[in-house]
This record gives sequence, structure tokens and C-alpha cells, in this order.
Amino acid sequence: MKAHEGIYIDGAWRPAAGQDVIEVVNPVDEQVIGTVPAGTALDVDTAVRAARTAFPGWAATPPAERAARLAALRDVLVARKDEIAETVTAELGSPLPFSQAVHAAVPIAVAASYAELAAVHPFEEKAGTSTVLLEPIGVVGAITPWNYPLHQVVAKVAPALAAGCTVVLKPAEDTPLVARLFAEAVHAAGVPAGVFNLVTGLGPVAGQALAEHPGVDLVSFTGSTAVGRRIGAVAGGALKKVALELGGKSANVILPSADLARAVNVGVANVMSNSGQTCSAWTRMLVHRDRYDEAVELAAAAAAKYGDRIGPLVNAAQQARVRGYIDKGVAEGARLVAGGSEPPRERGYHVSPTVFADVTPEMTIAQEEIFGPVLSILRYTDEDDALRIANGTVYGLAGAVWAGEDAEAVAFARRMETGQVDINGGRFNPVAPFGGYKQSGVGRELGVHGLAEYLQTKSLQF
Ligand code: NAP
Ligand code: MG
Repeated sequence: MKAHEGIYIDGAWRPAAGQDVIEVVNPVDEQVIGTVPAGTALDVDTAVRAARTAFPGWAATPPAERAARLAALRDVLVARKDEIAETVTAELGSPLPFSQAVHAAVPIAVAASYAELAAVHPFEEKAGTSTVLLEPIGVVGAITPWNYPLHQVVAKVAPALAAGCTVVLKPAEDTPLVARLFAEAVHAAGVPAGVFNLVTGLGPVAGQALAEHPGVDLVSFTGSTAVGRRIGAVAGGALKKVALELGGKSANVILPSADLARAVNVGVANVMSNSGQTCSAWTRMLVHRDRYDEAVELAAAAAAKYGDRIGPLVNAAQQARVRGYIDKGVAEGARLVAGGSEPPRERGYHVSPTVFADVTPEMTIAQEEIFGPVLSILRYTDEDDALRIANGTVYGLAGAVWAGEDAEAVAFARRMETGQVDINGGRFNPVAPFGGYKQSGVGRELGVHGLAEYLQTKSLQF
């Protein structure tokens, strides 16, 4: 157990205003592994002032120099990648190989992409006879969740710094240690004092203070739809810009011409990965009625293989929530073909990889985000039926389409109300814009589209 001291403000670790701390728990054995300060509104105010003071200087720093700092940041993250993976494993509970391959490697790829983009992005364009300047929006309040704890931090901070914005980050209370490591990396990369600030704390205290602070120009939030809605209302009321990455209930549409075994196996892996704690997970598998029974058998067999390979959920509340959804699925008449709500181990916040068959579109488990290793398999009769089911939730974050030919899958994907679709398996692309249609969010992260969120335009007429 280590008591981690201080919050990172204006280029230094300083004591928080109050004495309260947050306990960090290892979800595998439920042991407290450390504490961090629970920052308050006073700490947030100090951090926002530092960010405001640093803003004019950073905004005026040539993009090439900002790019150089981001390249240095990427290099520090690369040098500390093992420590990043170990830290995420300790506070999130994900197996170490997954932490290395995803929780450490993906943020490094994203930091690298913004180091490159900042160097080449045209921060000036022409519109007829006018010159349009793309200027940083100001001070960013970033509020992040625990499920991809470093990725979600880098996906906000890297484009914000590339754009010339300054940042105050409030990371999730469950995963503050990797956020502290990130602050050390920013410091080591030579980013000037005040450009990046970290206040660990509780959502309704530090998070809310940050979202409400009049010195914040843009609130960028990733997390639950419930909190996102409140933040959107608060920020909208203050006429601040807001970016929201919220929940999902994404559809994995397997068309009749698809390679069924491949589509089902990749689909199950997609849901079980990170113990199902992925906002873009393909939690609804849509299969034609003629191939339905075969798909259910394949999925149950695939899920059984994941038994010991996935980690626990992040905390007891998430475990209880996911178990409650599994019970609800059974109560509403879905057929359990793998897993169930009984925890597979006594210690740790584990939930078994679970697959439901005979799920109908109006069931709770087909409509609400569960955020655990739970797959629902739905039956469709024809393509229009599949589309109606795929588009039949309030969400629209991601999805997948499988078909014999890419063109057939693309034609279907064009009709989907969702922000990202993987065609026949796809491939992770750190510069592809990511974000939601409908209630999955507002705005986009990653790549040029992610950078644009942090810029505002000024046009000069001659
Ligand atoms: P959450 O409460 O929305 O947490 C996300 C972030 O917002 C955390 O930093 C949180 O702080 C902060 N926060 C909480 N209340 C706030 C408030 N009133 N004002 C400002 N910030 C606030 O999500 P959660 O409770 O951790 O997870 C609940 C559910 O949200 C999950 O089951 C899942 O369905 C969904 N979720 C979605 C994503 C995604 O990537 N889209 C990520 C995580 C969770 P604390 O850490 O102190 O709560
Ligand atoms: Mg919360």
C-alpha cells in the first residue's frame, strides 16, 4: 500500500487543499494497493487558473514545437510501457498481456499520431478571399473513465496540446495511478508548467467543479450517458463547448453470405475483451434465422474458452450491476447458453463470460449497456429486419458487418445509424474518427477529426 502524495498543478506536485484520499483497489484480490488525494473544488480552481495563465504562451508556441513535445511524450510513454501495463493491471485488473497489447500500446500509437499531425496540420486555410485561422479553443476540462484509463486520457490530452489548448484532467477514481504516471511523463517530456494539470478526485466533487468552472472553455467527457447528459446540460447552460463520448449497444450484423465461424468467433472475442468493459463492444450479435442455431453453438463454445482468460470487472458495483442484468435477461425469457450470474470465483469482482440466445429486440439486455462480458444473440428474417434491429436502440457508437464481399457489407453499413463500423473484421486504426450517433455522444476523437474538436475558426477578410 502506497500513499501517493500531491496533485500535479503548474508543473509541480503540490499538496491538495484537503486531507481526504481515494483508496485504489486491485479488483483481482480486493486489496487496497494505494491512495491518492481526493481533490476538491478548491484544487480544481487552482488548476484551472494555472491552465488559464499558461494558455496564451502555449497557444502562441509554433506547432512544430508543440509537435516536438508530443514526440517527447510518446518517447517517455514508450520507455515506461511495461510500468504502464503493470499499473493498469493492478488498478483495473486486466490480464498483463492485454494491458501490454492494448492499455499501453494504443495510447502510445495515439500520442505518436498527434506528434505527427501537429507537425503537418495546416492551422490556416483559405475560403475564397478570406484567410481562416484555426485557433485553440482555450482551457479544456477533461473527465475520463476507468475502462481504457490511459487511452481515454491520451485521446483528449494529445489533440488538445497539439491544438494549442491547455488542460485540467480529472481521471476516474478507480484508475488514478496510470493518470499520475501520465502526468510524470508529460513533465519529463518538457511540456511547460501549467499546460497540463491533474486533479485526482471524485466525480460529483472534482468532476462537477471542473465541468462547472467558468474558466473552462471546453468540457470533454467520456463515461456514462447519465453523467454525460448532466455535463452537457451544465456546459450548454454556460455556453461552453462540450464533447461527449458515451455508451453503446453496438450491433454485429452477420449477413447470410458471411463466413459464420469467423464472424462469430471474432464477435465473441470483441465482447469478452477487457471483460466486456468497452463502450464500442458489439454486444448484440444479429444472425439470420437459417443460421441461428449454428451461430449460437459456435458462440457458446467460443465463450467457454474465455473462462480463465478474462480479468474481473473494475469494482464491486460494476460486478453487481452486470449480475443484475444477467438475472434480468433470464427473467425476461432469454436462454442462457454460456455463463450466468453466479460469480466464478469467491475473491475478486469476476463475472463469467455469458451468452444469451433467443434475445428479442425489446428485452432489457438488447437495449441497455451492460458493460460486462455478456453477449446477446438476436434472430433476423431478412436484411430490412436486420437493419431495423441494428438501428433500434438509443445508441449508435460502433458496429460490425460481415458478408461474403466487402461491397455487400459496406452497402449495409451505409444504412446503419452509428459512428464506426468494422467491415469483415476491420483493423484498429488510431486515426479513424471515433464517436457516437444519437445518444452515444457529441463530437469525435482521434485523428484530424479529434484535433478539430479543440480548434475554433477566425476568418480574416482582405
Ligand atoms: P461515470 O460515473 O460516468 O464516470 C466517468 C467519469 O465521470 C469519471 O471520472 C467519474 O468520476 C466522473 N463523474 C461522475 N459523476 C460526475 C459528475 N456528476 N460530474 C462530473 N464528473 C463526474 O461512469 P461509471 O460510474 O464509472 O460507470 C457507470 C457506467 O457508465 C458503466 O456501467 C458503463 O455503462 C458506462 N461507462 C461508459 C464508458 C464509455 O467509455 N463510454 C466508460 C465508463 C463507463 P468517478 O470516477 O469518481 O465516478
Ligand atoms: Mg461513477
